[in-house]
Formats: sequence, C-alpha cells, structure tokens
Amino acid sequence: MSRRIAVLGGGLSGLSAAFHLSRRFPDALIRVFEQSDRVGGWVSSERVEVQNERGDSASMLLEHGPRTIKPSAISILELTQLLGLRSSVIAVPESSEASKNKFVYLPQTGRIEALPTSISSAIMGPFRSIGFPGFPMELFKKSNRPKGVEDESLHDFVQRRFGDKIANTLASAVMHGIYAADARKLSVRAVFPSGWGIEDAGDGSLIWGMPRYQGPSVEIDGELAEMYTLLHKMAVFSYKNGLGSLTEGLRDNLAQNPNVSVHLNTTVTSIDDTRLTLSGSTDKEFDATHVVSSIPLPKLESVLGQGALPHLTANSASSVTVFNFVFPVPPSELHPPGFGYLVPRPTDGYESSSTGMLGVTFDSCTLSMQDSPGAINNFTKLTVMAGGPFPRVANTDDVLEELRQHFGLKEMPKPVLTRVHHLKDCIPTPHVGHVERLKELKDAVSEKWGGRFELMGAGASGVSVGNCVDAAKAVGQNW
Ligand SMILES: Cc1cc2nc3c(=O)[nH]c(=O)nc-3n(C[C@H](O)[C@H](O)[C@H](O)COP(=O)(O)OP(=O)(O)OC[C@H]3O[C@@H](n4cnc5c(N)ncnc54)[C@H](O)[C@@H]3O)c2cc1C
Repeated sequence: MSRRIAVLGGGLSGLSAAFHLSRRFPDALIRVFEQSDRVGGWVSSERVEVQNERGDSASMLLEHGPRTIKPSAISILELTQLLGLRSSVIAVPESSEASKNKFVYLPQTGRIEALPTSISSAIMGPFRSIGFPGFPMELFKKSNRPKGVEDESLHDFVQRRFGDKIANTLASAVMHGIYAADARKLSVRAVFPSGWGIEDAGDGSLIWGMPRYQGPSVEIDGELAEMYTLLHKMAVFSYKNGLGSLTEGLRDNLAQNPNVSVHLNTTVTSIDDTRLTLSGSTDKEFDATHVVSSIPLPKLESVLGQGALPHLTANSASSVTVFNFVFPVPPSELHPPGFGYLVPRPTDGYESSSTGMLGVTFDSCTLSMQDSPGAINNFTKLTVMAGGPFPRVANTDDVLEELRQHFGLKEMPKPVLTRVHHLKDCIPTPHVGHVERLKELKDAVSEKWGGRFELMGAGASGVSVGNCVDAAKAVGQNW
C-alpha cells in the first residue's frame, strides 16, 4: 500500500515536514491538518503603510513572531534555496553595528548599557559591579559540577561558574530574550546543549573550554556551500518580506503538488492507532499509514487522551505580548545603533515589574532593508516583548513610558502605528530533566506505533526556527 501521511499542525514545523516528506516520498499522499484559518503558526509577518505629519510615507515590514535566523541553521539555507527565496534574503553582517552592539538594561544605572564583548569590558565600566570578580575568577575556579548530576537549570550552571550576579543579570536577560522564561526553570542540557561539553573541554572552565570545544561538524556541498560562504559571516538573516516568506513559500510550493493538501480550520481531535478524527472539515476521518505531530506536546495529550504517552505535559510554555511600534523619527533620535536590549529578572522578583518587559529589538537597525528605501530617514520600527514569567503585562502607554526611561529621553514621540499581539503559550519552557524525559517519550512513541508516528515541533525539537526545520528534514528517515 502506498503511504498516506498525516501531518498535525501547519506551523513552520508541519509545513516543512510536509515539504521534505513530499520530496522523500513523491508518491505518498500527504495531508496537513491545521486548526486555524491560516498556515504559519507563530510565524506572522505584516506589511504596513505609515505616514508622518509632514506627509512622508513608507512601507514597513513588522514581525509579530520570530524575526531573525542564525546562518548556522543549514536546513533553513537549504529550504531558502529550494523555495527560490535566495534573492530575497537580507542579512546582518557580523561586523555591523546592528550585530556588534547588543544592550542590557541595568537597574543599577537605570539605562541600557552595551553588553561586554571581552573580559576586560565585563569588569570595567557599567558592568563592573556585575562582571567583577565573576568573569576573571572563572578562569581559576576548579571544576565544580556536582558528581552524578544529569542536568541543572541554566541559572545554576552559570552561577556555579560565574557567581550570582552574572547569573541573575546576564543569564536571566539572555533567557528572557530567547525563551521568555525564568533561567531558574530552564534545563541547561536543553537550552545550551554544548554547555557541559565546553565545561569538559576546559577542565571545568567555560572560558578556557570555549576555544577548545569542537562541536559537531557539518558537511555542506554544491550550491548550498556557496550560500553558506556568503552568509556565514552574517550574524542573522531574514527575507525582504519577513519570515512569512518561508511559510508562504512552503504553502505555495505544497499547493502545486497534487499529492499534498493543507486543510485549514481542521482540528485533529483524536487518533486511534493511525486513524485521525477531524473536526471542522467535511472529512470526519483520515486513515493514515504514518503520522507526524508538530503540535505543542500538551495539545497532543488532549488529542491522544490523558496518560496515553509519558511527559507530554511536563513542560510549561511562556505567553508573550508583542508590541510593534513605528515612530515618526529616525532611529538615531530614539536609541543607540544596535540589535536591541534585554531586561534581566528584577532584583525584587518578577512581581515587582510594572510592565513585564523582557526585551526590545531595534528592527530599523537590523531589518531596514525590509522597508521602502529612505524609510529609515523618517521612521523607526521597534518591537517590545513582554510577559513570560512576569505576572502582569502593562498597557501600551506604560510600555512607552518605560522605553522613554530606558532610552534616557525627555519625551517619547507618539508612535504612528502600534500593534499589540497576545501570544498564548507560544514558547515551550524545557524544564530541568527535559532531555531525558524527551527520550523516554520518543521511546514510548516508537514502541506504541512501531516507528509509524513521529514527534516534532518546537516542544519536541527545540524552539528556534532552525531547530524546527532540522527536525522536519529528518522526519520519515526510517519509513
Ligand atoms: C514571539 C516569538 C518570537 C520568536 N523569535 C524567534 C526568532 O527570532 N528566531 C527563531 O529562530 N525562533 C524564534 N521563535 C521561535 C519560533 O518561532 C517557534 O518555535 C516556531 O515558529 C514554532 O513552530 P512550530 O510549527 O513548531 O509550532 P507552531 O507555530 O505552534 O505551529 C503549530 C500549529 O499547530 C496547530 N495546531 C495545534 N493543535 C492542533 C490540532 N489539534 N489540530 C490541528 N492543528 C493544530 C496550531 O494552530 C499551529 O498553527 C519565536 C517565537 C515567538 C512566539
């Protein structure tokens, strides 16, 4: 019998899984089931037209979800090539100010300060009270990973090597930026997989271990090698029309394949072996030979039934409020040139924050090529991420007031455009022990379905866009 493949979820993971499966098994019948009325999941790009009081106008691209990709994500370079998106790639060179200048909000100074780029800058200037003596002392600290420990929180890992101040400030800020989560809740093995390897390579020291550590090697050939060479000196990249180009490119590509169909407004409500029950669609069932689930793991539990598989609800997920602003002034009148800034955990605890701000991206510095020529002379786009572990998220006026304080401005210009999106449970939080639990979960899936059911998506494969597409490429390898 030829393969009938069901893909649960039409986010980036599900769409790219369908794409790679259709290349791997050209004769297979592939159905993607997506509960909402659009594909893309958290990927959501919007083009807007703005105008200032003088009548200058511009077309600008806003991202409500992910905005940039690391060029080390080889699977995305490949997808870019295969979808014919190469000419729309825009990249931020490592040497640019947008890449080099990253900031952290320091409660001690009440301002945003440039993140140290060397040990000397970490122990002098505004970071002295945080970086000293933690950074230099790490070089001399003995190996201190407790024996028999299989995992620990990212916070504990950083604290063990660099001390409280660096863990509370820098590590917490970075984890706010990537996971919108409390570093004390995140598994170091999951969020920094090379961390323990680097520590081992440095006989306990991360600073000594960094140059000695050899990560897994990648082999790249042909046209991809050319693209890799072009992009590997870039800090991050995106597309002229944003990351939506990827999911729309996938959608359009799949639409041309008569063996593949994407069913919107179709929720998978239960699965019996490999027979799916659907709601919202005219077809009430789909009898598959193979199933790929890219939906969040807790949602899979409600599809399969409580207790059907272990650990599906072991991790929580962060909810994030995304504020996109366009201001009628050039970026130089608002903030320093750079990538943006992150906000550490407040010293008095999450309850004490009035706005719940996690971080801000200076989108006009990094992604101005997405906007009409000259837009940067009259307008600034920036994005504020808030929520995650904070119990409250402020209204727009309070967020603007906090930006004013962080930028040290007398007055904050009124935005010409504001978008606010509340993204519920949008980033999974891999808690300590995640790697081991995930292995047990995958073993249970393999035992139950004999290899005909595969788990992927941000909850199972890692949250970055690159993680999602890497996993999509690997799906069905053993079918
Ligand atoms: C605000 C934000 C900023 C981010 N920034 C970056 C970034 O800059 N760079 C980066 O690399 N990563 C970033 N990420 C992470 C990355 O965007 C996500 O991890 C990734 O998009 C997840 O894709 P996915 O397809 O696995 O999951 P989702 O996007 O969650 O897709 C799952 C899909 O399944 C559907 N679904 C759920 N249940 C069912 C059901 N029962 N039946 C049918 N369909 C169902 C949902 O509607 C959804 O469309 C960011 C994430 C967020 C939220």
